[in-house]
This record gives sequence, C-alpha cells and structure tokens, in this order.
Amino acid sequence: MSDVDVGSNHDAKTLASIAGSETGNYQEISTQFVLTSVLGFFTAVLVASLKRAKMGCGMSKSTQAASYAPAPSPSPTTLGNMHANLLPKPVYESSSVTQPAAPAVPTTTKSLTPATLDGYGENAFWGASAEKYLVKQGLTTDTLRDPMWVKDMALADKIAAAVLEWAVDHGANTFCHWFQPMCATSRHGQTGQIWLRGDSIFIPACFVAYTGKALDEKIPLLRAEQAMSREGTRLFKALGHSIDGLLTNIGLEQELFFIPSDAYYKRPDLQMCGRTVLGRSPALGQEGSTHYMAPINTTKSVFPCMQEIQQECYKVGIPLKTRHREVAPNQYEFAPMFGHVVGQIDQNLVAMQLAAEIAPKHGLRALFHEKPFQGVNGSGKHNNWSLSTKCGAQLLNPEEITKRMGDFKVFPIVMAALISGVDKYGDLMRMAIASPGNDFRLGAMEAPPAVISMYLGEDMTKYLTKFMNGEVMEYIPSTTDIDLGVSYCPKVTAPAEDRNRTSPFPYGGHRFEFRAVGSSQNVSMVNTVLAALAARQFKEIADRVEAGESGVAVAQSLLKKHMKSVFNGDGYDPGWPVKARKDGLWVVESGVDAIKMFTDAKNTELFSSLQILTPEEVTARQECMLAHYILTVETEVLCMIDMIKQHIIPSCKKAGVDDSACTTAMSEMESALKAVHAASTADGATMCRTLRLEKMRTVRAGIDELEGIIPAEMWTLGTYKELMFIDENSD
Ligand code: ADP
Ligand code: MG
Repeated sequence: MSDVDVGSNHDAKTLASIAGSETGNYQEISTQFVLTSVLGFFTAVLVASLKRAKMGCGMSKSTQAASYAPAPSPSPTTLGNMHANLLPKPVYESSSVTQPAAPAVPTTTKSLTPATLDGYGENAFWGASAEKYLVKQGLTTDTLRDPMWVKDMALADKIAAAVLEWAVDHGANTFCHWFQPMCATSRHGQTGQIWLRGDSIFIPACFVAYTGKALDEKIPLLRAEQAMSREGTRLFKALGHSIDGLLTNIGLEQELFFIPSDAYYKRPDLQMCGRTVLGRSPALGQEGSTHYMAPINTTKSVFPCMQEIQQECYKVGIPLKTRHREVAPNQYEFAPMFGHVVGQIDQNLVAMQLAAEIAPKHGLRALFHEKPFQGVNGSGKHNNWSLSTKCGAQLLNPEEITKRMGDFKVFPIVMAALISGVDKYGDLMRMAIASPGNDFRLGAMEAPPAVISMYLGEDMTKYLTKFMNGEVMEYIPSTTDIDLGVSYCPKVTAPAEDRNRTSPFPYGGHRFEFRAVGSSQNVSMVNTVLAALAARQFKEIADRVEAGESGVAVAQSLLKKHMKSVFNGDGYDPGWPVKARKDGLWVVESGVDAIKMFTDAKNTELFSSLQILTPEEVTARQECMLAHYILTVETEVLCMIDMIKQHIIPSCKKAGVDDSACTTAMSEMESALKAVHAASTADGATMCRTLRLEKMRTVRAGIDELEGIIPAEMWTLGTYKELMFIDENSD
C-alpha cells in the first residue's frame, strides 16, 4: 500500500513537515487556516496512522460522493451563525446572511429543494465536526488554534489519531494528498482543509523539491503572510502599538460559465483548451444585459446545479453564500463569506472542483476559462483583500483601526505603505494576473486595462493629499443621503467611496478589490505579491521610524513619491494607458512581458530579502510560467488545426465553398510552431503570444465568415447559439 499524490506529474517529493509555517495566535481566524498551515505535517503523521489502520489509498478520480441528495428541509439557522458554530471565534463577516439558498417562489421546477445548512461543515475536519474526536484524545478544538502543535510530535500523533477515527466514522477507506503544483490553474491546484467526499479523505500537502525549494503555490504564500505579519507587527511597534500579528483576509468572487454538455461534446476546443478558438458570434450577445438582470431561471438545469454546488460546499464548510447571473449569456457567479487568505484559496479550489464534478450530473459543463467565447465578457475572480490584526482590528477600516489603536495616524501610514507598494511593485501585480486566458480579457471593457493603478475615491484621495502636505488629522469618511423621491422609501446612506469598476485595484470600503484576476487562476501568487509588497513597505517605514524619523514624516514622503499610482478616473478611457505610461505607472500590455519582469533585480531582491522566494526559485517559477504559456498556445494551435482538418474543410467541401485559405492557414501555423520549438523558452513565449493574438485571430476571422455561409446542417461543430443560450435553447 502506498500513498498517492493527486494532481501532479512533477518529479519531486512532498516534504514531510512544513512546521515552519506562520505561527501565532489564530483563534480569531478560522480553523481552516490552522488545518492548512499544518498540512505538511499531516503528510508525515496522518499518513503513518492511516497506514497503520490499513486504510487504502487511491486517486481522487475514484472518489464518488456518498450522496448528493439535498436534505429535506431548510434549517432556520443562518449561514453566518452556522459558520460561527463551527469556528470558535471567526473574523468572518457578520452573520446577517439569512437562509441562503431558498429559491425565489418556484413555479415549474426541476429539483427545487432548497439548499440546507443541516450538516454544514460535517465533511471537513475542523471546529464542531472535529470536536468529538479531539475530545476522545483528551484534546479540544482549541488545540488546533495554535499551529505550533505541529512541532509537538506527541500532540500531533493524537490529532492524527482523531483525524483517522473521524475519517473512518465518515465512511472513508481511502486517502490522498492535495496540493497546489506551480502554475496551477483550474483543474490542478486543489488542496485544502482535510475534507471528505465519498470514500476518500483529502489531505492537504505542501510540495517541495528534494532540495527544499518550493514547487507549489502554497509555500510562497505562507512565507509571504509570515513576512507581512512580521514586518507589520514591527511597524505597529515602531508606532507605539503592540499587536499580536497581522493577517490577510480575502473573499473571492468566482465567475464561470455553464454550458450544455451535448454542445460541449461538439467542441474539441472547449474540451482541449477550455475556450473556443473558432465560433461565429450569433445575432444576440450580451447587449441589453438580458441575462445579467434576470433572476436565475428556476426551470432550467443551471438552478439545481448551482444549488447542489452550494450544498456540497456547505458540507465541507465553505460558506458559499452568493450566487447570481453575470453579464454574458450562460455566465454566473458564486462568492463566499470572506476569511483568511490561506483557507479561502483552498476553499476556492475545492469549490471549483465541486462545480466541475457536479455540473455534468445536470447535463452541464462548468467553464472556468477567462475567455471561453469571443465577443462577450470573459470571467474574472475578484480578489477582495484586506488586512487585520490577529485579534480582528481591520487595518483598512479607518474608524475601526483608529478606535482600536487609539491613534488616527495608523490608517494614513498603512495607506501610504500600500500606495507606495503598489507603485513600486505594480509590475509584479501584473505578473501575478498573467494567466494565459487573461490575454483576452484585460482592457477589453470587461476588465480593467493592463495598467496597474489604485482607486481611492475623491474623499480619501483629498484626505491623503492634505495629510501628505502637512494637514495631519483624522480621516472621517463622509456619507451622503440618497433620497429616492418616494414618500414611503427611507433615505439610503451612500458611503464616501463609490466602487470604481474600471480600476484594477479599487478601495471599496474596508477592502481593496483586485479585479483583474483571472477566473481560472489559483490566486496564491496574487496574494503572495500583495503580502510581499505590503511587507516590504511596512518594513521600510519601520526601519526609518526605528532610525529616528516620525511615522507621519515617512508616510508623507512615501505619498509624495507614489501618489501617482492613485487614479480615480475612467480606466476604460482609451487615453488612460497613454497618460499612465507618461506618468510612470506600470503599463504592461503583454502577460508574457510581465512574466519576464518577475526576475528583474528589484523583484528578486523583494522576494529574497523577505525570505519568500530565493532568486533561484523566482527564476524557476518564471520558466515554469513561460513554459505553461507555450504549452497553452501550442495546444490551442494544434486543436485549431485539427478542427480545420476534421470539421471546417469537410463542411466546405460538402457545401461547395472554397477552402484554400484553410490549407494556407494550417501550414503557416505549423511553421510558426516549429519556430517556437527551435527558440528559447523566453523567446518562444513571445512568439506564441503573437501567434495567438495575431495569426490565430486572423485565421479565426476567416473561418467564422465561412460559418456564416455554410448551411447549418452541414456545420458539424457546436455553434455559439447552441453553447451560450441555455435559457433560450432548453425546455
Ligand atoms: P460585489 O458587489 O463586488 O459583486 P460580492 O458580494 O459578490 O460583491 O462579493 C464581495 C466579496 O468580498 C465577498 O466574498 C465578501 O465576503 C468579500 N469581502 C467583503 N468585505 C471584505 C473584507 N473586508 N475583506 C476581504 N473580503 C471582503
Ligand atoms: Mg459579486
């Protein structure tokens, strides 16, 4: 019997212990993080215990959910309360969320049993679900609060025994490792809290080379969080405040498409590449926002599918509270209640996995690609991001942090750190969102352009400008009353900041929202970069204050130099990238170029000085990202050639339409690929970008024209009409 690592073909070993992960007091966060932070440990201890218990070990493929049937009745308990019951003292959003999944009054239904909170979290080893088993070992759930337990082998053995008993009690006879290999996108990259599906438990693990070099997405994230907390705590101390450490909290809005399985099977490009490389736009697209503005249609398969995804997420303790339609036809979104960055990323990957598994049961496929269809919006994953002290004081909430610290200067100093960090390391933020699919999305009026700037709103910008120029006072955000002009409607209080959706990194009240992130991405690198730049700027201010300058003076000097990265205007204005370039902002159109900037001296210095990644690890990661890009484009080109040969040319012949342009296009693309193979990885990636965004686009335009003239019955590929209009196409 041997253990099997799921989700990787890398030739490397998992590390037995990652005991060096961030330490400190996590009780205010969530046990998710505790579990996550000890993952390497489980590899060592739990695996040993499972082996002792003769538990089998298999691939995740063999895993079947025990039951997908929704429980019969909705629980009156709110999701927030339920989550709170699981977690001793979470810093999650307030529990104002009511029963989340009850549908709007159903008329004709497929399967409209409301999702229920009964059994919330029962398939995750954490909080209340783990309690009974921990108590048997003489422990409490408090034991899990402090991740330092991983260093205590005797204690860890007891926890492993509790996990084993929990797993067996829940019907598991198999275990496997989950981890996040480098460059992971949607299908790879699963890891998470210890969770159960069917007969298998999934044990999170870190992934390193035999030499100890990080090969996964998680280790750099843990290291970056640690650095951010360390330097932030130093900064607070330098400012005269003692805190117990800092944390990042995120909430990920996951956009995706659901398309009918039968049409999917008629699209080799969706099957192989996740996006359509050909396809004529139908008469109707997203104009009029008819899809966006409507409720989810309760008579179509998407509704019970989303409901089941939500239900399965609840079972493993993922508070996926929001679900709604998005702009493009067949586009939807889920969002959870926010929480600690490490657990949230794990949970997002698990939610994506669950969606991918559950959709086919409803005759659907879930598409996570950033741009599955040309001509309508693609999908993003907004990374809502904030910092808090470990005891829960929100750094980006001016009123709260001022009150908790008894010092109004903390907020502008933190803001100065973040503004200067974005200005200095905006190239890394661009690198972190350089997923291949984002090539088609950034700057296309659906996502912010490839200019890295931040939006603060007029109110806060004015305040910080005054602060910078010597008017040092407390920030009290103004509010306005909106009168609806209807006698019985109360006035609505609008916050100081509007939410500028054209900015890649707007402040949205108590948080920033990194909006340019791609939907398929594992957002570990995104959050590693954000934590690193925050850590770096916290360090700079702390160093200078310790050397005798005042915190206010340092913040003022940073703002004077870096306020240029604040842009409150229209990010979709075609003149903006031109102006931004002139103003010295980071404008990096090409994702490949952004990846190449990863190894710039200032960037390797950032990561190595904060002990997040060594220069060798940065170089290796860059190589991996570029190779991943080449692989992506090569797959697309080969798929396009196959489709031309096997579908387009035969259709042309049948219809008596000239296909000579197809033959020329194929040989040009084949030669371009040969040239890529002969080049270095860096040059090959640049060539691939041109091939993809220029040559493939031209070829596509020609073929899409052919689709317009060939009779429908002679066209053998699934059409956009069949793929994108579930509401209109199905009963
Ligand atoms: P939108 O109106 O942007 O679509 P959603 O409600 O869909 O908003 O998603 C917003 C996300 O931001 C949720 O996941 C929410 O939990 C998260 N969020 C809210 N406040 C914070 C915060 N302070 N820090 C991190 N994430 C937050
Ligand atoms: Mg949303």
